[in-house]
Amino acid sequence: MMDGPMDALYREVVLDHHRHPRGARPLDDYDVQAAGKNPSCGDEVTLQVRFGDTDRIDAVGVLSQGCAISTSSGSMMAELIEGRSIGEVKELAARFKQVMHGDEFPVDVDLGDLEALEGVKKFPVRIKCALLPWITLLDAVLAHREGREPDPVNTEGLTDDGRPMDVTLEERK
Ligand code: ZN
Repeated sequence: MMDGPMDALYREVVLDHHRHPRGARPLDDYDVQAAGKNPSCGDEVTLQVRFGDTDRIDAVGVLSQGCAISTSSGSMMAELIEGRSIGEVKELAARFKQVMHGDEFPVDVDLGDLEALEGVKKFPVRIKCALLPWITLLDAVLAHREGREPDPVNTEGLTDDGRPMDVTLEERK
């Protein structure tokens, strides 16, 4: 039996994260809250991040409303980032973006269940869905570092594959 293209998009792991999202609870105590929107699909995410000592992410709440790709990506992110240093999280986000932009899946970095989202890169309009929680997270981290409230992230006006939406941890000019 041949797998159709939609099977590549909605793999069982993806659907499981969508139905039972990890980290999908509000935190009692957090340092920063950030919101992101992907109007082309109707995806929304609110992140609450608690930072620990030594520049680590202690806990993250990922409250998603949207398609299976965005909610599962946020759930996989929650699973991956708790307890990680900011540097590690930045690396994970960068590697996942590279995969969405056409790179092979990395073998030197463990991206966990995100591997199941590899099929998304064949559907360029859905790449923003997969990247939304990650872009929102990077902006939350940057805002926290700069001691300001995060700006709402909005993918409107960006190319389908989300290249110009790259949010880095560089200070803004
Ligand atoms: Zn979506």
